[in-house]
Amino acid sequence: RLITLEGGEGAGKSTALATVRDCLQADGANLVVSREPGGTPLAEQLRAMVLHASRQDDADERLHPSAELLMVFAARAQHVAEVIEPALARGDWVLCDRFTDSSFAYQGAGRGLDMAWLADLERRVVGFLPGLTLWLDVPVALGRARVQRRGGVPDAIEREQDDFFERVHGGFAARMAADPQRFARIDASLPLAQMVEQVQRAVTSYLQQ
Ligand code: C5P
Repeated sequence: RLITLEGGEGAGKSTALATVRDCLQADGANLVVSREPGGTPLAEQLRAMVLHASRQDDADERLHPSAELLMVFAARAQHVAEVIEPALARGDWVLCDRFTDSSFAYQGAGRGLDMAWLADLERRVVGFLPGLTLWLDVPVALGRARVQRRGGVPDAIEREQDDFFERVHGGFAARMAADPQRFARIDASLPLAQMVEQVQRAVTSYLQQ
């Protein structure tokens, strides 16, 4: 009963989130919508610290990759214990904007941290996998162009170059290849209306399983 949304910058995650929410609510489900890093007051503070540190140049202390990983997992530990597990225990559905796959993609593939360490943290801190993960797959250049068009820079890690985001993209692809049953790949290069249809189809077929 846990559905997660994953994807790179400019993939249309907000639109997809609203689409999944509407599908589940139409199905009459009791639904908790949350996000990572974040989802509790303490976890949101950790998120703000991670994002703030990633925006700093040399003026402030730069966040070490291991520190970033542990802060993201500290936030996740809190979020899982306070929000996700109680909701699942009540029989609610949980829809989460980013989850462990983002750690494997950003901190693992992107920052080059040891995947075995991440797998160990995943097992100890979370101990379960989503039932369905929607991966909004968008080519790095297109995602960047979309973010720039809406007047932004990729939220965190704005200093990162395309090679970082290429590694992140490869990280998501590898997670999907390792567990294809759990994933639905959404072609996020499509126009929004077509992407929304793909999301609806993926959620509907998951609900019918
Ligand atoms: O989901 P959203 O795009 O709002 O996430 C905010 C930022 O946090 C993203 O730009 C992403 O680069 C970063 N992030 C990260 N490591 C994670 C999760 C998110 O660096 N595990």
